[in-house]
Amino acid sequence: MKIPQQQTLFKKVSLLFLFACFLFLLFEYATNFSFFYLTQNLYQPQDLKGAAKVGAYAFSYFFVLLNLLLLVLLRKGKLFVLFFSVIVLTMMLDTTYYFNGLSRGFSTGQFVTAVNEKKHALDAISTFYGGAIKGLILLVIFIAVSWLLRKTYASRFFFLPILFLPLSFIGSNLILKDTDYETYDYPSFVKVPLSIFNAYDDGLMDIPFVKRDRVVATPTSNPHFKNIILLVDESVRGDYLSINGYPKKTTEYLSSLDKLFTLGSISSVANSSANSNYILRNGITLEELPDKEYKTLKKPSIFQYAKKAGFKTIFLDAQSNYQGLQNNMSSYDLEDIDFFITQRNKDDYSLSDRRITKQLSKILADNSKDKFFVYFVKYGSHFKWQLNYPKENETFKPALTIYEALGFDNREKAVNSYLNSVKWGVDGYFEYLLKTIDTKDTLIIHTADHGQNIIENEILVTHGTAKNPPSTMANVPLLIYANDIDYIKSKFDKIELDTYSQYQLFPSLLDIMGYNEETVGQYGSPFWKGNKKERRFYSGSIFGKGYSNKYQMKAN
Ligand SMILES: [Zn+2]
Repeated sequence: MKIPQQQTLFKKVSLLFLFACFLFLLFEYATNFSFFYLTQNLYQPQDLKGAAKVGAYAFSYFFVLLNLLLLVLLRKGKLFVLFFSVIVLTMMLDTTYYFNGLSRGFSTGQFVTAVNEKKHALDAISTFYGGAIKGLILLVIFIAVSWLLRKTYASRFFFLPILFLPLSFIGSNLILKDTDYETYDYPSFVKVPLSIFNAYDDGLMDIPFVKRDRVVATPTSNPHFKNIILLVDESVRGDYLSINGYPKKTTEYLSSLDKLFTLGSISSVANSSANSNYILRNGITLEELPDKEYKTLKKPSIFQYAKKAGFKTIFLDAQSNYQGLQNNMSSYDLEDIDFFITQRNKDDYSLSDRRITKQLSKILADNSKDKFFVYFVKYGSHFKWQLNYPKENETFKPALTIYEALGFDNREKAVNSYLNSVKWGVDGYFEYLLKTIDTKDTLIIHTADHGQNIIENEILVTHGTAKNPPSTMANVPLLIYANDIDYIKSKFDKIELDTYSQYQLFPSLLDIMGYNEETVGQYGSPFWKGNKKERRFYSGSIFGKGYSNKYQMKAN
Protein backbone atom coordinates (compact mmCIF):
# COMPACT_ATOMS: atom_id res chain seq x y z
CA MET A 1 0.00 0.00 0.00
CA LYS A 2 2.80 2.37 0.84
CA ILE A 3 4.37 2.44 -2.60
CA PRO A 4 1.28 3.40 -4.62
CA GLN A 5 0.57 6.16 -2.11
CA GLN A 6 4.02 7.59 -2.62
CA GLN A 7 3.54 7.32 -6.35
CA THR A 8 0.34 9.31 -6.17
CA LEU A 9 2.04 11.92 -4.04
CA PHE A 10 4.94 12.08 -6.50
CA LYS A 11 2.48 12.55 -9.34
CA LYS A 12 0.59 15.24 -7.47
CA VAL A 13 3.73 17.17 -6.60
CA SER A 14 5.07 16.86 -10.14
CA LEU A 15 1.83 18.21 -11.52
CA LEU A 16 1.92 21.01 -8.99
CA PHE A 17 5.51 21.78 -9.95
CA LEU A 18 4.66 21.90 -13.65
CA PHE A 19 1.75 24.18 -12.85
CA ALA A 20 4.04 26.41 -10.77
CA CYS A 21 6.54 26.58 -13.68
CA PHE A 22 3.73 27.51 -16.02
CA LEU A 23 2.47 30.26 -13.72
CA PHE A 24 5.98 31.51 -13.23
CA LEU A 25 6.76 31.67 -16.96
CA LEU A 26 3.47 33.40 -17.58
CA PHE A 27 4.29 35.97 -14.90
CA GLU A 28 7.78 36.53 -16.31
CA TYR A 29 6.42 36.93 -19.82
CA ALA A 30 3.60 39.25 -18.85
CA THR A 31 5.75 41.48 -16.64
CA ASN A 32 8.92 41.47 -18.74
CA PHE A 33 10.78 40.24 -15.64
CA SER A 34 14.28 39.08 -16.23
CA PHE A 35 14.22 35.32 -16.86
CA PHE A 36 13.67 35.64 -20.60
CA TYR A 37 15.92 38.64 -20.90
CA LEU A 38 18.74 36.76 -19.22
CA THR A 39 18.32 33.56 -21.19
CA GLN A 40 18.49 35.64 -24.37
CA ASN A 41 21.71 37.22 -23.17
CA LEU A 42 23.24 33.92 -22.16
CA TYR A 43 22.41 32.41 -25.53
CA GLN A 44 25.20 34.42 -27.18
CA PRO A 45 26.97 33.94 -29.42
CA GLN A 46 24.18 31.67 -30.58
CA ASP A 47 26.10 28.42 -30.56
CA LEU A 48 26.40 25.21 -28.56
CA LYS A 49 28.15 26.95 -25.69
CA GLY A 50 25.35 29.52 -25.50
CA ALA A 51 22.75 26.76 -25.49
CA ALA A 52 24.63 24.93 -22.72
CA LYS A 53 24.72 28.11 -20.62
CA VAL A 54 20.97 28.61 -21.06
CA GLY A 55 20.42 24.94 -20.19
CA ALA A 56 22.49 25.14 -17.02
CA TYR A 57 20.78 28.36 -15.97
CA ALA A 58 17.26 27.09 -16.66
CA PHE A 59 17.96 23.80 -14.85
CA SER A 60 19.36 25.57 -11.82
CA TYR A 61 16.45 28.01 -11.86
CA PHE A 62 13.78 25.34 -11.96
CA PHE A 63 15.59 23.37 -9.30
CA VAL A 64 15.39 26.40 -7.02
CA LEU A 65 11.73 26.81 -7.91
CA LEU A 66 11.05 23.17 -7.02
CA ASN A 67 12.92 23.69 -3.76
CA LEU A 68 10.71 26.67 -3.04
CA LEU A 69 7.61 24.59 -3.61
CA LEU A 70 8.84 21.85 -1.29
CA LEU A 71 9.79 24.36 1.39
CA VAL A 72 6.27 25.74 1.29
CA LEU A 73 5.06 22.18 1.93
CA LEU A 74 7.58 21.54 4.71
CA ARG A 75 6.34 19.61 7.75
CA LYS A 76 4.88 21.88 10.39
CA GLY A 77 7.34 23.05 13.04
CA LYS A 78 9.92 25.68 13.94
CA LEU A 79 11.94 25.06 10.79
CA PHE A 80 8.92 25.68 8.62
CA VAL A 81 8.22 28.96 10.40
CA LEU A 82 11.82 30.00 9.92
CA PHE A 83 12.01 29.13 6.22
CA PHE A 84 8.60 30.51 5.42
CA SER A 85 9.50 33.82 7.10
CA VAL A 86 12.69 34.06 5.05
CA ILE A 87 10.76 33.29 1.86
CA VAL A 88 8.14 35.92 2.65
CA LEU A 89 10.60 38.64 3.68
CA THR A 90 12.96 38.18 0.72
CA MET A 91 10.04 38.08 -1.67
CA MET A 92 8.69 41.30 -0.22
CA LEU A 93 12.06 43.00 -0.68
CA ASP A 94 12.53 41.73 -4.22
CA THR A 95 9.04 42.62 -5.45
CA THR A 96 9.25 46.08 -3.87
CA TYR A 97 12.28 46.79 -6.03
CA TYR A 98 10.53 45.27 -8.99
CA PHE A 99 7.36 47.30 -8.60
CA ASN A 100 9.44 50.44 -8.30
CA GLY A 101 10.53 50.00 -11.87
CA LEU A 102 13.68 47.89 -11.51
CA SER A 103 12.84 45.11 -13.93
CA ARG A 104 15.32 42.75 -12.31
CA GLY A 105 14.22 43.39 -8.77
CA PHE A 106 16.74 43.23 -5.96
CA SER A 107 20.40 42.86 -6.98
CA THR A 108 23.95 43.08 -5.65
CA GLY A 109 24.27 46.60 -7.04
CA GLN A 110 21.00 47.70 -5.45
CA PHE A 111 22.14 46.35 -2.12
CA VAL A 112 25.43 48.26 -2.26
CA THR A 113 23.55 51.43 -3.13
CA ALA A 114 21.01 50.90 -0.34
CA VAL A 115 23.73 50.45 2.28
CA ASN A 116 25.65 53.48 1.03
CA GLU A 117 22.44 55.48 1.14
CA LYS A 118 21.19 54.31 4.50
CA LYS A 119 21.04 57.84 5.84
CA HIS A 120 18.31 58.48 3.28
CA ALA A 121 16.26 55.47 4.31
CA LEU A 122 13.25 57.56 5.34
CA ASP A 123 13.24 59.48 2.06
CA ALA A 124 13.46 56.20 0.21
CA ILE A 125 10.55 54.69 2.11
CA SER A 126 8.39 57.74 1.51
CA THR A 127 9.22 57.60 -2.20
CA PHE A 128 8.94 53.90 -2.81
CA TYR A 129 6.05 52.81 -0.62
CA GLY A 130 3.83 52.51 -3.73
CA GLY A 131 5.90 49.56 -4.92
CA ALA A 132 5.93 48.10 -1.43
CA ILE A 133 2.13 48.12 -1.29
CA LYS A 134 1.94 46.23 -4.59
CA GLY A 135 4.54 43.81 -3.23
CA LEU A 136 2.42 43.36 -0.13
CA ILE A 137 -0.67 42.52 -2.17
CA LEU A 138 1.29 39.88 -4.09
CA LEU A 139 2.59 38.56 -0.80
CA VAL A 140 -0.91 38.15 0.66
CA ILE A 141 -1.88 36.16 -2.45
CA PHE A 142 1.25 34.04 -2.04
CA ILE A 143 0.52 33.31 1.62
CA ALA A 144 -3.11 32.44 0.82
CA VAL A 145 -2.08 30.05 -1.96
CA SER A 146 0.59 28.48 0.28
CA TRP A 147 -2.02 27.96 2.99
CA LEU A 148 -4.38 26.25 0.53
CA LEU A 149 -1.56 24.05 -0.77
CA ARG A 150 -0.55 23.04 2.72
CA LYS A 151 -4.13 22.04 3.49
CA THR A 152 -4.20 19.80 0.45
CA TYR A 153 -0.70 18.38 0.69
CA ALA A 154 -0.57 18.45 4.48
CA SER A 155 2.98 18.54 5.79
CA ARG A 156 4.54 15.60 4.05
CA PHE A 157 8.09 16.67 3.42
CA PHE A 158 11.01 17.15 5.59
CA PHE A 159 14.30 15.78 4.29
CA LEU A 160 13.89 16.59 0.62
CA PRO A 161 13.54 20.40 0.83
CA ILE A 162 16.27 20.68 3.47
CA LEU A 163 18.55 18.51 1.35
CA PHE A 164 17.79 20.61 -1.72
CA LEU A 165 18.48 23.86 0.07
CA PRO A 166 22.32 23.81 -0.04
CA LEU A 167 22.18 22.54 -3.62
CA SER A 168 19.94 25.46 -4.57
CA PHE A 169 22.37 27.93 -3.08
CA ILE A 170 25.58 26.37 -4.37
CA GLY A 171 24.22 25.78 -7.88
CA SER A 172 22.82 29.26 -8.37
CA ASN A 173 25.90 30.89 -6.87
CA LEU A 174 28.16 29.00 -9.28
CA ILE A 175 26.09 30.26 -12.20
CA LEU A 176 26.04 33.80 -10.84
CA LYS A 177 29.82 33.84 -10.54
CA ASP A 178 30.49 32.16 -13.85
CA THR A 179 28.36 34.65 -15.76
CA ASP A 180 29.84 37.71 -14.04
CA TYR A 181 26.44 38.31 -12.38
CA GLU A 182 24.61 38.57 -15.65
CA THR A 183 22.29 35.87 -14.35
CA TYR A 184 21.04 37.62 -11.30
CA ASP A 185 17.47 36.53 -11.49
CA TYR A 186 16.47 33.68 -9.18
CA PRO A 187 13.50 33.16 -6.90
CA SER A 188 13.84 35.71 -4.12
CA PHE A 189 14.70 33.40 -1.23
CA VAL A 190 17.92 32.45 -3.01
CA LYS A 191 18.59 35.64 -4.94
CA VAL A 192 18.42 38.09 -2.04
CA PRO A 193 20.88 36.30 0.30
CA LEU A 194 23.23 35.53 -2.60
CA SER A 195 23.23 39.14 -3.79
CA ILE A 196 24.11 40.29 -0.29
CA PHE A 197 26.73 37.56 0.15
CA ASN A 198 28.40 38.47 -3.15
CA ALA A 199 28.44 42.16 -2.34
CA TYR A 200 30.64 41.36 0.67
CA ASP A 201 32.53 38.50 -0.94
CA ASP A 202 33.60 40.67 -3.89
CA GLY A 203 34.74 43.50 -1.67
CA LEU A 204 32.04 45.84 -2.98
CA MET A 205 30.98 46.78 0.53
CA ASP A 206 34.36 47.79 1.76
CA ILE A 207 36.16 49.78 -0.91
CA PRO A 208 38.68 51.36 1.48
CA PHE A 209 38.07 54.98 0.50
CA VAL A 210 40.75 57.34 1.77
CA LYS A 211 41.55 61.00 1.57
CA ARG A 212 42.95 61.81 -1.84
CA ASP A 213 46.51 63.10 -2.21
CA ARG A 214 46.88 66.86 -2.61
CA VAL A 215 47.74 68.27 -6.04
CA VAL A 216 51.47 68.98 -6.02
CA ALA A 217 51.71 70.88 -9.29
CA THR A 218 50.82 74.55 -9.64
CA PRO A 219 49.34 75.94 -12.85
CA THR A 220 51.91 77.90 -14.80
CA SER A 221 49.53 79.94 -16.92
CA ASN A 222 46.14 81.56 -16.47
CA PRO A 223 43.22 79.58 -17.87
CA HIS A 224 41.84 81.14 -21.04
CA PHE A 225 38.24 80.41 -20.02
CA LYS A 226 36.37 81.67 -16.99
CA ASN A 227 34.10 78.63 -16.85
CA ILE A 228 34.68 75.07 -17.99
CA ILE A 229 31.66 72.79 -18.26
CA LEU A 230 32.14 69.08 -18.82
CA LEU A 231 28.95 67.29 -19.85
CA VAL A 232 29.22 63.55 -19.34
CA ASP A 233 26.17 62.25 -21.14
CA GLU A 234 24.64 58.83 -20.55
CA SER A 235 24.72 56.08 -23.20
CA VAL A 236 25.24 58.41 -26.17
CA ARG A 237 26.91 56.82 -29.14
CA GLY A 238 29.07 59.07 -31.31
CA ASP A 239 28.21 57.70 -34.73
CA TYR A 240 24.47 58.23 -34.18
CA LEU A 241 24.94 62.00 -34.27
CA SER A 242 24.32 63.50 -37.71
CA ILE A 243 27.11 65.99 -37.01
CA ASN A 244 29.34 62.90 -37.13
CA GLY A 245 27.86 61.72 -40.40
CA TYR A 246 24.77 59.75 -39.36
CA PRO A 247 22.32 59.97 -42.31
CA LYS A 248 19.18 60.85 -40.29
CA LYS A 249 19.09 64.37 -38.84
CA THR A 250 19.58 63.76 -35.14
CA THR A 251 21.70 66.84 -34.43
CA GLU A 252 20.55 69.52 -36.84
CA TYR A 253 20.90 72.23 -34.22
CA LEU A 254 24.48 71.26 -33.35
CA SER A 255 25.41 71.31 -37.04
CA SER A 256 24.08 74.85 -37.30
CA LEU A 257 26.42 76.19 -34.58
CA ASP A 258 29.59 77.79 -35.86
CA LYS A 259 31.02 77.92 -32.36
CA LEU A 260 30.96 74.17 -32.00
CA PHE A 261 33.06 71.45 -33.55
CA THR A 262 33.29 67.70 -33.27
CA LEU A 263 36.23 65.34 -32.94
CA GLY A 264 34.02 62.63 -34.44
CA SER A 265 33.41 59.37 -32.62
CA ILE A 266 36.06 58.68 -30.03
CA SER A 267 36.69 55.56 -27.94
CA SER A 268 35.37 55.76 -24.39
CA VAL A 269 37.51 54.95 -21.35
CA ALA A 270 35.19 52.09 -20.32
CA ASN A 271 31.82 50.56 -21.18
CA SER A 272 29.87 51.08 -17.95
CA SER A 273 28.74 54.24 -16.14
CA ALA A 274 30.51 53.63 -12.84
CA ASN A 275 33.84 52.67 -14.41
CA SER A 276 33.84 55.47 -16.96
CA ASN A 277 32.96 58.22 -14.53
CA TYR A 278 35.51 56.95 -12.02
CA ILE A 279 38.24 56.93 -14.68
CA LEU A 280 37.24 60.32 -16.09
CA ARG A 281 37.05 62.02 -12.70
CA ASN A 282 40.40 60.76 -11.48
CA GLY A 283 42.53 60.65 -14.61
CA ILE A 284 43.12 56.90 -14.35
CA THR A 285 45.21 55.34 -17.11
CA LEU A 286 44.69 51.86 -18.55
CA GLU A 287 48.03 50.79 -17.12
CA GLU A 288 46.62 51.28 -13.60
CA LEU A 289 43.66 48.92 -14.15
CA PRO A 290 42.46 46.71 -12.61
CA ASP A 291 43.42 48.40 -9.38
CA LYS A 292 43.41 45.49 -6.95
CA GLU A 293 45.47 47.42 -4.39
CA TYR A 294 43.15 50.44 -4.41
CA LYS A 295 45.97 52.80 -5.36
CA THR A 296 43.76 54.99 -7.57
CA LEU A 297 41.61 55.93 -4.57
CA LYS A 298 44.41 58.33 -3.62
CA LYS A 299 44.86 60.00 -6.99
CA PRO A 300 43.86 63.68 -7.00
CA SER A 301 40.53 64.22 -8.74
CA ILE A 302 39.72 66.68 -11.50
CA PHE A 303 37.96 68.76 -8.84
CA GLN A 304 41.21 69.11 -6.89
CA TYR A 305 43.10 70.20 -10.00
CA ALA A 306 40.32 72.66 -10.79
CA LYS A 307 40.41 74.16 -7.31
CA LYS A 308 44.17 74.49 -7.37
CA ALA A 309 43.77 76.39 -10.64
CA GLY A 310 41.39 78.85 -8.98
CA PHE A 311 38.04 77.43 -10.05
CA LYS A 312 35.09 76.82 -7.82
CA THR A 313 33.66 73.38 -8.47
CA ILE A 314 30.14 72.21 -9.21
CA PHE A 315 29.12 68.58 -9.48
CA LEU A 316 25.68 67.84 -10.90
CA ASP A 317 24.17 64.38 -11.09
CA ALA A 318 20.84 64.15 -12.90
CA GLN A 319 20.69 60.41 -12.31
CA SER A 320 21.01 60.48 -8.56
CA ASN A 321 18.50 61.36 -5.90
CA TYR A 322 18.78 62.84 -2.43
CA GLN A 323 22.46 63.80 -2.71
CA GLY A 324 23.22 60.15 -3.34
CA LEU A 325 26.74 59.29 -4.42
CA GLN A 326 27.23 56.83 -7.26
CA ASN A 327 29.94 55.73 -9.66
CA ASN A 328 32.48 54.99 -6.91
CA MET A 329 32.38 58.43 -5.34
CA SER A 330 32.88 58.85 -1.62
CA SER A 331 32.52 61.64 0.90
CA TYR A 332 36.24 62.36 0.36
CA ASP A 333 35.37 63.50 -3.17
CA LEU A 334 32.87 65.96 -1.75
CA GLU A 335 35.62 67.82 0.12
CA ASP A 336 36.67 69.41 -3.17
CA ILE A 337 33.20 70.08 -4.53
CA ASP A 338 31.68 73.46 -3.68
CA PHE A 339 28.22 72.81 -5.06
CA PHE A 340 26.78 69.30 -5.19
CA ILE A 341 23.38 69.09 -6.84
CA THR A 342 21.31 65.98 -7.52
CA GLN A 343 18.01 65.65 -9.29
CA ARG A 344 15.46 64.95 -6.65
CA ASN A 345 12.30 64.84 -8.70
CA LYS A 346 12.24 61.93 -11.10
CA ASP A 347 8.59 62.15 -12.05
CA ASP A 348 9.45 62.93 -15.62
CA TYR A 349 12.79 61.55 -16.71
CA SER A 350 12.83 63.48 -19.96
CA LEU A 351 13.13 66.76 -18.07
CA SER A 352 15.79 65.73 -15.53
CA ASP A 353 18.71 67.30 -17.41
CA ARG A 354 16.85 70.52 -18.10
CA ARG A 355 15.64 70.93 -14.53
CA ILE A 356 19.12 70.52 -13.11
CA THR A 357 20.50 72.93 -15.72
CA LYS A 358 18.20 75.61 -14.34
CA GLN A 359 19.86 75.12 -10.96
CA LEU A 360 23.28 75.37 -12.59
CA SER A 361 22.27 78.57 -14.32
CA LYS A 362 21.25 80.07 -10.98
CA ILE A 363 24.54 79.18 -9.26
CA LEU A 364 26.55 80.64 -12.14
CA ALA A 365 24.47 83.83 -12.15
CA ASP A 366 24.57 84.26 -8.35
CA ASN A 367 28.35 83.89 -8.32
CA SER A 368 29.20 85.64 -11.54
CA LYS A 369 32.54 86.88 -10.22
CA ASP A 370 33.86 83.36 -9.62
CA LYS A 371 35.45 80.98 -12.10
CA PHE A 372 33.77 77.58 -12.29
CA PHE A 373 34.59 74.04 -13.26
CA VAL A 374 31.39 72.02 -13.77
CA TYR A 375 31.12 68.24 -14.05
CA PHE A 376 27.61 67.24 -15.08
CA VAL A 377 26.49 63.60 -15.12
CA LYS A 378 23.52 63.82 -17.47
CA TYR A 379 20.42 61.67 -17.35
CA GLY A 380 20.81 61.31 -21.12
CA SER A 381 19.91 58.25 -23.11
CA HIS A 382 19.97 55.24 -20.85
CA PHE A 383 17.50 52.56 -21.95
CA LYS A 384 14.50 52.44 -21.90
CA TRP A 385 15.10 55.02 -24.61
CA GLN A 386 11.39 55.56 -25.26
CA LEU A 387 11.03 57.07 -21.78
CA ASN A 388 13.72 59.72 -22.31
CA TYR A 389 11.78 62.13 -24.52
CA PRO A 390 8.29 63.62 -24.48
CA LYS A 391 5.85 61.72 -26.66
CA GLU A 392 5.30 64.77 -28.88
CA ASN A 393 9.04 64.75 -29.66
CA GLU A 394 8.88 61.35 -31.26
CA THR A 395 10.42 62.41 -34.57
CA PHE A 396 11.61 59.04 -35.80
CA LYS A 397 8.88 56.43 -36.22
CA PRO A 398 7.89 53.69 -35.63
CA ALA A 399 9.39 53.70 -32.15
CA LEU A 400 9.08 51.30 -29.21
CA THR A 401 5.99 51.61 -27.05
CA ILE A 402 6.50 52.07 -23.32
CA TYR A 403 6.28 48.40 -22.39
CA GLU A 404 7.91 47.00 -25.50
CA ALA A 405 11.03 44.96 -24.82
CA LEU A 406 14.10 44.78 -27.03
CA GLY A 407 14.13 41.86 -29.42
CA PHE A 408 15.96 40.77 -32.52
CA ASP A 409 12.80 41.37 -34.52
CA ASN A 410 12.27 45.02 -33.58
CA ARG A 411 15.63 46.64 -34.23
CA GLU A 412 14.19 49.38 -36.46
CA LYS A 413 11.85 50.51 -33.67
CA ALA A 414 14.65 50.31 -31.12
CA VAL A 415 16.98 52.45 -33.24
CA ASN A 416 14.22 55.00 -33.83
CA SER A 417 13.56 55.25 -30.08
CA TYR A 418 17.26 55.74 -29.53
CA LEU A 419 17.47 58.43 -32.23
CA ASN A 420 14.54 60.26 -30.63
CA SER A 421 16.30 60.07 -27.29
CA VAL A 422 19.54 61.45 -28.76
CA LYS A 423 17.74 64.22 -30.65
CA TRP A 424 15.97 65.31 -27.48
CA GLY A 425 18.78 64.65 -25.02
CA VAL A 426 21.79 65.93 -26.99
CA ASP A 427 20.62 68.25 -29.79
CA GLY A 428 17.56 69.59 -27.98
CA TYR A 429 19.44 69.75 -24.71
CA PHE A 430 22.24 71.87 -26.19
CA GLU A 431 19.71 74.34 -27.52
CA TYR A 432 18.17 74.52 -24.04
CA LEU A 433 21.55 74.84 -22.33
CA LEU A 434 22.80 77.66 -24.55
CA LYS A 435 19.56 79.56 -23.95
CA THR A 436 19.62 78.95 -20.20
CA ILE A 437 23.17 79.77 -19.16
CA ASP A 438 25.42 82.67 -19.98
CA THR A 439 28.17 81.10 -22.11
CA LYS A 440 30.44 84.13 -22.32
CA ASP A 441 34.06 83.05 -21.61
CA THR A 442 32.84 79.49 -21.22
CA LEU A 443 34.18 76.25 -22.65
CA ILE A 444 31.73 73.36 -22.95
CA ILE A 445 32.95 69.84 -23.64
CA HIS A 446 30.40 67.13 -24.31
CA THR A 447 31.02 63.41 -24.24
CA ALA A 448 29.31 60.28 -22.88
CA ASP A 449 30.17 57.65 -20.32
CA HIS A 450 29.94 54.85 -22.87
CA GLY A 451 28.35 53.95 -26.18
CA GLN A 452 25.44 51.70 -26.92
CA ASN A 453 24.99 48.37 -28.60
CA ILE A 454 21.59 48.48 -30.25
CA ILE A 455 20.66 44.91 -31.12
CA GLU A 456 23.97 44.38 -32.88
CA ASN A 457 26.75 41.83 -32.67
CA GLU A 458 24.08 39.22 -31.93
CA ILE A 459 23.48 40.53 -28.42
CA LEU A 460 20.72 42.50 -26.79
CA VAL A 461 22.84 43.90 -23.96
CA THR A 462 23.37 47.61 -24.56
CA HIS A 463 26.51 48.22 -22.50
CA GLY A 464 28.56 47.04 -19.56
CA THR A 465 29.47 43.54 -20.78
CA ALA A 466 32.63 42.44 -18.99
CA LYS A 467 33.99 39.80 -21.34
CA ASN A 468 34.61 40.57 -25.03
CA PRO A 469 32.44 43.69 -25.22
CA PRO A 470 31.75 44.94 -28.76
CA SER A 471 33.20 48.36 -29.67
CA THR A 472 29.69 49.78 -30.15
CA MET A 473 29.66 50.02 -26.34
CA ALA A 474 32.72 52.27 -26.43
CA ASN A 475 31.79 54.61 -29.28
CA VAL A 476 31.13 58.09 -27.85
CA PRO A 477 31.01 61.69 -29.09
CA LEU A 478 33.39 64.51 -28.26
CA LEU A 479 32.02 67.98 -28.96
CA ILE A 480 33.63 71.28 -28.09
CA TYR A 481 31.74 74.57 -27.81
CA ALA A 482 33.06 78.01 -26.92
CA ASN A 483 32.39 81.63 -27.83
CA ASP A 484 36.09 81.84 -28.56
CA ILE A 485 36.18 78.55 -30.45
CA ASP A 486 39.16 79.71 -32.49
CA TYR A 487 41.32 79.57 -29.38
CA ILE A 488 40.73 75.81 -29.08
CA LYS A 489 40.90 75.20 -32.81
CA SER A 490 44.25 76.96 -33.01
CA LYS A 491 45.69 74.48 -30.52
CA PHE A 492 45.26 71.70 -33.10
CA ASP A 493 47.68 71.33 -36.00
CA LYS A 494 45.05 69.26 -37.68
CA ILE A 495 41.76 67.72 -36.48
CA GLU A 496 41.72 64.06 -37.36
CA LEU A 497 38.14 62.89 -36.89
CA ASP A 498 37.45 59.49 -35.35
CA THR A 499 41.00 58.94 -34.08
CA TYR A 500 40.90 60.14 -30.47
CA SER A 501 40.53 58.36 -27.16
CA GLN A 502 38.62 59.53 -24.10
CA TYR A 503 41.74 58.84 -22.03
CA GLN A 504 42.92 62.14 -23.58
CA LEU A 505 40.15 64.11 -21.88
CA PHE A 506 41.74 64.43 -18.43
CA PRO A 507 45.09 65.72 -19.79
CA SER A 508 43.17 68.07 -22.12
CA LEU A 509 41.30 69.55 -19.14
CA LEU A 510 44.55 70.01 -17.17
CA ASP A 511 46.10 71.75 -20.15
CA ILE A 512 43.08 74.10 -20.40
CA MET A 513 43.32 74.80 -16.66
CA GLY A 514 46.86 76.05 -17.15
CA TYR A 515 49.00 73.12 -15.95
CA ASN A 516 52.34 72.64 -17.66
CA GLU A 517 53.43 69.89 -20.00
CA GLU A 518 55.12 67.88 -17.28
CA THR A 519 51.96 67.63 -15.19
CA VAL A 520 49.69 67.08 -18.19
CA GLY A 521 52.05 64.46 -19.62
CA GLN A 522 51.69 62.20 -16.58
CA TYR A 523 48.11 61.56 -17.71
CA GLY A 524 48.62 61.27 -21.47
CA SER A 525 48.43 63.69 -24.36
CA PRO A 526 45.67 66.25 -24.91
CA PHE A 527 43.45 65.91 -27.97
CA TRP A 528 45.31 68.71 -29.79
CA LYS A 529 48.54 66.76 -29.65
CA GLY A 530 46.91 63.89 -31.58
CA ASN A 531 46.53 60.29 -30.48
CA LYS A 532 49.52 58.07 -30.98
CA LYS A 533 48.33 55.21 -28.78
CA GLU A 534 46.31 52.18 -29.79
CA ARG A 535 42.70 52.76 -28.75
CA ARG A 536 41.53 50.51 -25.95
CA PHE A 537 38.70 50.60 -23.42
CA TYR A 538 38.19 48.95 -20.06
CA SER A 539 35.48 46.49 -18.97
CA GLY A 540 34.76 44.43 -15.86
CA SER A 541 35.48 45.63 -12.36
CA ILE A 542 37.78 48.54 -11.47
CA PHE A 543 39.00 46.87 -8.28
CA GLY A 544 38.49 43.23 -9.22
CA LYS A 545 38.56 41.26 -12.43
CA GLY A 546 38.75 43.49 -15.49
CA TYR A 547 39.80 43.58 -19.13
CA SER A 548 41.45 45.99 -21.55
CA ASN A 549 39.73 45.70 -24.94
CA LYS A 550 40.88 46.77 -28.37
CA TYR A 551 38.57 49.39 -29.88
CA GLN A 552 37.57 48.83 -33.46
CA MET A 553 36.28 51.83 -35.33
CA LYS A 554 34.32 49.70 -37.75
CA ALA A 555 32.05 48.75 -34.93
CA ASN A 556 30.45 45.53 -36.07
ZN1 LIG B 1 26.06 54.73 -18.40
